[in-house]
Formats: sequence, structure tokens, C-alpha cells
Amino acid sequence: MKRKNKVLIMIILMFVAMVALKFTQSEESPDDWWLILVNEKHSVPKNYSPELTQLSNGIYIDSRIYPDLQKMFDDARSDGIYPVVSEGYRTYKQQKQMMTDKINSFINEGYSEKEAKKYAKDWVAEAGRSEHELGIALDINADPSYSSDDEVYNWLAVNACKYGFILRYPPNKEDITGIDYEPWHYRYVGTDTALEIYSRQITLEEYLS
Ligand SMILES: [Zn+2]
Repeated sequence: MKRKNKVLIMIILMFVAMVALKFTQSEESPDDWWLILVNEKHSVPKNYSPELTQLSNGIYIDSRIYPDLQKMFDDARSDGIYPVVSEGYRTYKQQKQMMTDKINSFINEGYSEKEAKKYAKDWVAEAGRSEHELGIALDINADPSYSSDDEVYNWLAVNACKYGFILRYPPNKEDITGIDYEPWHYRYVGTDTALEIYSRQITLEEYLS
């Protein structure tokens, strides 16, 4: 092969590799990952796979929210409040299993398969439609040796926005979020967005619309 052709092939290969890399990156981690909307109507982006950090209790979260979470928990503790993360990142497969388990528990209670599927949806998000699959949604409860859940929820309700977290499913917003009030479920949206959502008392759906 002529030297000129070799150089040409090299250039073409490099170009293909660059395009492929760009494509993978944009699919796996959108630039505004902290604003990705996931609910009944919006699925987790295809091939979404955040880099994860494992907490001391074994739960995984998106590494990018770890510094803000750490700071929030440190400040809570200095106020005498002891939160723990009880749920973090879940894979599609784990979410699917949660749904199967919930359906089976209703069937075991005597409901028909059709009824069980219907009721399970009130409790568990379908696979691909749970914010937990993003790794930036956390269920936060109390370390029972030191705090009550209510103490933790009350502290978070007022303070979480300063660290970029919002109460994702507030009371009286079920018609917008599609989910009942969950005082333990917090979602990272970045500090600017969290402060705005908190001060306007709106949901992520309303903020993005
Ligand atoms: Zn949750």
C-alpha cells in the first residue's frame, strides 16, 4: 500500500473513533445530568451509566453528588441530626425485581394478577421509570440510635436545598409528580435549581416546563 493511502486510512479511522466517542459520551452522560427528568412519562436515558461511589453502608450513589451529600450530612450532625442513606442507585434489573416482588406480595394476599399489577404500580415505579436508576435520588432516613425519622425529615425539608437536593415528591403535588408524598426521597438538582424550586415551592416537573 502506498504511504499516502496509509495516512488517509489512518485519518479516516481517527475520525470514526472520535465520532464514536462523542456519541457514546453524549448518550451515557448528558451535560445537564442534574436536570434529567424521570417519571411515569419520561424514562431513564438509554445506556445511562453514571460513575458510582459506594457509601460505608454499602449503598451506591452517583460520584458527582458525593461531596454535597457529605457536606449536608456533616452539617446535619453538627445540628444534632443523624441521617442515613437507606436507598440510592438501583439498576434497571433491581427495579424490575422490586416490581415483581410487589406484584407477588399482592397475589399472595389474594388479589388477582391483574389487580396485583395495578396496585403494585401505586407503590413501585416501573423499571426504567425510577429516579433511583439515575443514582442522584436518595431515600434518607434516621440513624435510629440518635434521631427520629421526623427529626431528619424536618431538618432536610428546610436545609437540603442549600446542598442541591430537593424534596422530590412534596404533599399536595401528587397530580403533577404522579407519586404520593415521600418525606424521605431527595433528588439532586444542583444548588441554584434547588434554591429556586424550594423558594417557589414547585416540583421539578413545574421547574422544567
Ligand atoms: Zn426513593
